[in-house]
Amino acid sequence: MFGFLDSLSWSSAVLAVVDIGIVAYGFYRLFLLIRGTRAVQLVKGIIAVLIAVPVSRWLRLNATHYVLQQIQVMLVVALPIVFQPELRRALETIGQGRFFSSESLLRQHEETDWGRVVDEVARAADHLGRSRTGALIVLERTTGLNEYVATGIPIDARVSSALLENLFVPNTPLHDGACIVRGDRVVAAAAFLPLTESAQPGSELGSRHRAALGISEQSDAAVVAVSEETGWISLAVEGRLQRRLEDRALREMLTRLLVRPKTYPGFKIWHRGAGG
Ligand code: ATP
Ligand code: MG
Repeated sequence: MFGFLDSLSWSSAVLAVVDIGIVAYGFYRLFLLIRGTRAVQLVKGIIAVLIAVPVSRWLRLNATHYVLQQIQVMLVVALPIVFQPELRRALETIGQGRFFSSESLLRQHEETDWGRVVDEVARAADHLGRSRTGALIVLERTTGLNEYVATGIPIDARVSSALLENLFVPNTPLHDGACIVRGDRVVAAAAFLPLTESAQPGSELGSRHRAALGISEQSDAAVVAVSEETGWISLAVEGRLQRRLEDRALREMLTRLLVRPKTYPGFKIWHRGAGG
């Protein structure tokens, strides 16, 4: 009789461990999958809501609790719609068994000599502007840009002004589109970026500058655009476009955005927490 009970509790304990193990492993894989995409920000928001719901009930903040509950319901409906592209890609990735494709993604940022990157990018922009060569250079910050890297042609080369200038020579295979810089590596060229939808109708922004704005809205990237029509250099950050920048102003702004890592809230936590 006792032996039977013993074996029952043992088997249920083992089952519970396996159960929790499966769930933990599933979440771990999910995290690896979304790490380095803009989904991370949204997941942080969702986690905040999920925590706030029971907390608000516990604190008897009835109105807050009610609103948060409604938001929770809305999330269930809205998530598949908002995340449709990501979900599709995630399922595709699972199908292909490439879970660890974003393994070393953010490590590179920490090991980067950003001062040198800023110098090379600014020098390239200056030369490209003088020769009226159109260019679009995306500098990844904390939002991973894998989904846009995937639209371009993969490159893995150290950033230099010579390389960047060469990439945008007209009528060459890689010149059309954006080049994406992660840390001190150029990771892709000829990448296609989302166009902003917020550009005022009638504004003379062409598609290159709309693309610069678009990616700056979808991520925290710093985007340098060189106009082939005017030779002007612009910088798009967080949905704002600074046009007609002098070399010094560009260097100062890039330095502020990239060299001083204080603008990286939570970056190290995610990086370390991922165990990568
Ligand atoms: P410019 O001042 O250099 O003429 P613009 O803002 O007027 O730029 P367009 O003249 O339309 O824009 O520039 C077209 C070039 O911009 C394309 O050849 C392509 O290289 C790049 N481009 C356009 N749209 C995108 C996009 N969605 N993603 C990446 N690059 C793009
Ligand atoms: Mg144009």
